[in-house]
Amino acid sequence: MTAHTPPRFRRPAPPVRTRPLEELPGLGRSLVLSFDDGPDPRYTPGILATLREHGVRAMFFVCGEMAADSPDLLREMAADGHVVANHSWSHPLIPSLSRAGIRDELGRTSDTIARTVGEAPLWYRAPYGAWNRNSFEIGAALGMEPLAWTVDTLDWKEPGTGTIVRRVLDGAAPGVVVLSHDAGGDRSQSVAALRRYLPGLLADGYRVTVPFRT
Ligand SMILES: [Zn+2]
Repeated sequence: MTAHTPPRFRRPAPPVRTRPLEELPGLGRSLVLSFDDGPDPRYTPGILATLREHGVRAMFFVCGEMAADSPDLLREMAADGHVVANHSWSHPLIPSLSRAGIRDELGRTSDTIARTVGEAPLWYRAPYGAWNRNSFEIGAALGMEPLAWTVDTLDWKEPGTGTIVRRVLDGAAPGVVVLSHDAGGDRSQSVAALRRYLPGLLADGYRVTVPFRT
């Protein structure tokens, strides 16, 4: 006789992609704001406050090593309904890693997110947008879809708050995914820009939202 254990519910693994998703069609006049590399206690709270003020949700692609330092910020993201997603542990160039190295970078980060907010991430984004086949296979095995972006604000170059605002408003279109950063350097321009372009997007009739995945 063998011991019987009831089957545990398991979310089906997503397909193994050959390239990341870059936009999210089918959302109507909606777009997605995403913030990478955090959380950073200097900048993430300002971004969370602005999103909260306008009652909108966004995606945060966090690095595991940053998340481990600021678990309260992760919990705040989740409590506000934001999507906490995986951006690797230490922001390496994924194609320079072995399979085991990629699994470690993504797996440890997913574990940290799951432990902190109670749910494993459903999305991941390769640092520098540098994907490879191993990353697609390992990401899918970990239950995640790869999401890139449509509009790059290049905010990490600190081009000035006005330039970041203009790039977002000029790039806005249904299904677009906007890339900004809440860590990795001085991100005060990114925080200030959000305060200006978010009301602009909403005034233009955009719904700022997050993708739904089952
Ligand atoms: Zn990054």
